[in-house]
Amino acid sequence: MAKIEIRCPVCRKWNNIEISDDLTKNVSKGLLALNIATGMICEHSFIAYVDKNLIVRDCLVADFKIELQEKSSSQATDEIISPEMDVLKFDLIKLNLPDFLIVNVLRTIFLKKKILILSEEQFLYNHIINFFKYITHNTFEFDISIISEEDFWTFDAYCASEVTIGDQHFKLDGLMNKVIPDAVLNKKKELSFPIMISTITAQELMYSGCCILNIVVPAVMGALLGVDPEKASKMAAKGAWINNTVPGASERAFEVAKKALRIMKDLKD
Ligand SMILES: [Zn+2]
Repeated sequence: MAKIEIRCPVCRKWNNIEISDDLTKNVSKGLLALNIATGMICEHSFIAYVDKNLIVRDCLVADFKIELQEKSSSQATDEIISPEMDVLKFDLIKLNLPDFLIVNVLRTIFLKKKILILSEEQFLYNHIINFFKYITHNTFEFDISIISEEDFWTFDAYCASEVTIGDQHFKLDGLMNKVIPDAVLNKKKELSFPIMISTITAQELMYSGCCILNIVVPAVMGALLGVDPEKASKMAAKGAWINNTVPGASERAFEVAKKALRIMKDLKD
């Protein structure tokens, strides 16, 4: 159990808030959002963002709040809200889910497609699911999975890049899974050139893991243009410094260069 001193951003009153170790041990990346409800420190409610060293980085007072009906024992009639809805916090959703994400999830629900959300904020997973359960209640069915980027396996590269064009500097973190979808959906034209430069480089890197085109093609071209095939393949391998980490790459390129020369000779004959 860790104790954190949290100060209300409105009235400056403070108190020590206890948080469980379960919550703190998951804060390796990003921030933990603590929902400070009315009465915990003062009459205000706000969200305190705490980093992995348990230092309060920021406090935000939500500018709107939707209170869900409290379950009360006097309510004998049908529950409108199921028990798990207790953990639904609209302010958390509003602060953590970008508008475009909500819109796209809704669109995907209407299209009856499966949804995969990548998020490092594990404390949000239930809130997100409950939020969509609540707003689609009895109307639409959905299939949402939320996983962390670490667990996300795909053929898309997980990469970041930094591009400098003139005096402009672009830092593209999560190029394939964040930057490109965001640029496409929000029509961020200013990003198209830095994205293009980054994807060409990223593509080269991706190739290097599975094929040695960067060695074979230059070796073949060199051989066809008159360089000795063995020398051409060694030169090509030397130039492709990433691809050349694939064992036996220059030998394979040499084989292909010899075949290319034979084919060229056959064509001439
Ligand atoms: Zn206060």
